Amino acid sequence: MSEKLRELYSFYQEIKNCSKCPLQKSRKQVVVGEGGYKRPILLLGEAPGRTEDALGRPFTGRAGKLLDDILRRNGLSREDLFITNSVKCRPPNNRKPYKNEIIACSAYLIKELEVLKPKIIITLGATGLQALSLIGVLKNNDNILNYNNVKLKEVRGRTLTLRIDNLVIKVVPTYHPAACLRNPSLVRNLQEDIKRAVIELETPFID
Ligand code: URA
Ligand code: SF4
Repeated sequence: MSEKLRELYSFYQEIKNCSKCPLQKSRKQVVVGEGGYKRPILLLGEAPGRTEDALGRPFTGRAGKLLDDILRRNGLSREDLFITNSVKCRPPNNRKPYKNEIIACSAYLIKELEVLKPKIIITLGATGLQALSLIGVLKNNDNILNYNNVKLKEVRGRTLTLRIDNLVIKVVPTYHPAACLRNPSLVRNLQEDIKRAVIELETPFID
């Protein structure tokens, strides 16, 4: 295992009993990120669901199975990247996490980014974009995206930039696999976006 992963997994041990926000009450366990991270790509979801809460691992339910299929079709597996969520605990009835919960958990997302230093973040759904907008400067060309004005439809298909102190990371926004389960016509978009993210990895930053 790489030094980066070792450092992160050791940090995760420290947050197993986190009680920084009200989601501590509804969860069975904290669900941290995982992956082999052979390429510097981080996938950012929303929050653990029922299966993830029970198993303690991200994207292991139906949406996760679809995600695995789509990764496979792009020649990728979880060994190639790292997957984590915007909040690490399951909200009651899988509701969207509230802003205060995303803020409370964002210190862990910052830590993940500082340790892993991904070149690309693929956000799955709008919540990941909102979480990023709270921890750094998230831009679509010259427009700053804020928590309240993030519209996934407007930015999907583009590459955004995130600056956090001296980290500059490309952000590829795409649909959440759970949205693709509800609306299978979105699967093609998700697949194209992941393919484009891999190409972006090879493309130097033009800023
Ligand atoms: N949806 C998410 O956003 N994350 C998971 O881990 C599972 C479902
Ligand atoms: Fe802690 Fe994050 Fe879980 Fe809230 S969601 S209790 S901040 S780990």
